[in-house]
Amino acid sequence: MSNTTAVHAGEPNPRISGAVVMPIFQSSTYLYEDETDYHAARYVRLSNSPNHEVLHRKLAALENAEAALVAASGMAAISTSLLAMLNADDHLLVLDCPYGGTRGFIVEDLPRFGISYTFIDPNDPRDWESKLTPKTRAIYVETITNPLMQVPDLEAVVEFARSNDLLSMVDNTFASPINFRPAEHGFDLSLHSCTKYLNGHSDIAAGAVIGRTVLVEKVRRLLNHLGGSLDPHACYLLQRGIKTIGLRIRQQNQSALAIARFLEDHTSVKSLNYPGLPSHPAHERARTLFDGFGGMLSFELAGGAPAARRFLKRLKIPLVAVSLGGVESLIILPAVTAYANVPAPERKRLGVTDGLIRLSVGIEETQDLIDDIRQALSE
Ligand code: PLP
Repeated sequence: MSNTTAVHAGEPNPRISGAVVMPIFQSSTYLYEDETDYHAARYVRLSNSPNHEVLHRKLAALENAEAALVAASGMAAISTSLLAMLNADDHLLVLDCPYGGTRGFIVEDLPRFGISYTFIDPNDPRDWESKLTPKTRAIYVETITNPLMQVPDLEAVVEFARSNDLLSMVDNTFASPINFRPAEHGFDLSLHSCTKYLNGHSDIAAGAVIGRTVLVEKVRRLLNHLGGSLDPHACYLLQRGIKTIGLRIRQQNQSALAIARFLEDHTSVKSLNYPGLPSHPAHERARTLFDGFGGMLSFELAGGAPAARRFLKRLKIPLVAVSLGGVESLIILPAVTAYANVPAPERKRLGVTDGLIRLSVGIEETQDLIDDIRQALSE
């Protein structure tokens, strides 16, 4: 994915009134032009304003996919896609450690619509086979899992979906289109929290669904009913953020790798999860599939949770806050944030210990970040 695509793809041609930058169409409704279908009327909730249309073209181009749709948040994109793809009595296979919000939706809400699910080990195709039922309709994974940075066997997921007539869905938030483009590997739908890397500035909530036209259109029709469309001003900010995604992600890839190497050699670090390190169990897979290993890493200190809390307090550059993917480094303990609602035994089984630290590397100078981490870890 090139910077040229990020800057130019989808932009209006010719430009609107000569404006180099896409104007914000702050209008909820547009003049009626004899549309006959409800979903074709020009109305902001129907995600068809000029701001939406430009973004849809740009996002599809970023992942080399047929179509895209933006939504009011990552969760709006994910929940609407799952509801659009699954009917009552259908069954879903889902990786055993999805993002906390996705997990909550699947566990607490999908069963109320008659949709069942089974958690799978995303690295073990034999496990998927044993959990497949005649009612299974889709398999759902994440490119890089949160917070342990596992890389599922993505090629096997697509193969398994194809041979069993399932839809393959992947949350590509952590990798971003710079490092991985699901459509190029045969995934049916890619989902994003654009709140993270795609926008990259921690100043909006947004989501995206990217993939085959017929599926994206199905999601759009349900989104039109549920009402989770993205506001034109947020569309404008997201479009602006996307233009620099290549520069940001390449810097974040490079910094995260340098920080991971530094932490791996540090005596206070007990364990470290980063797919860019040869010690990571799926390093070879990540090297083959990804253009970069991403800006997210997690680790545990030898002193456990108390040492982790002390470390967070002593850091001067990374801000202690949830979310990720912005220009500023953010750091958090997942056990008390995204995983706070997961019962403690289950958290332990998944490897989300009380002292696990998750770092989202920003675009600050690499050496500044390493120096700050070094001083915060010192005795
Ligand atoms: N997917 C992943 C991997 C996430 O980390 C998040 C949020 O943290 C989401 C989806 C949900 O996105 P949003 O907060 O934009 O609804």
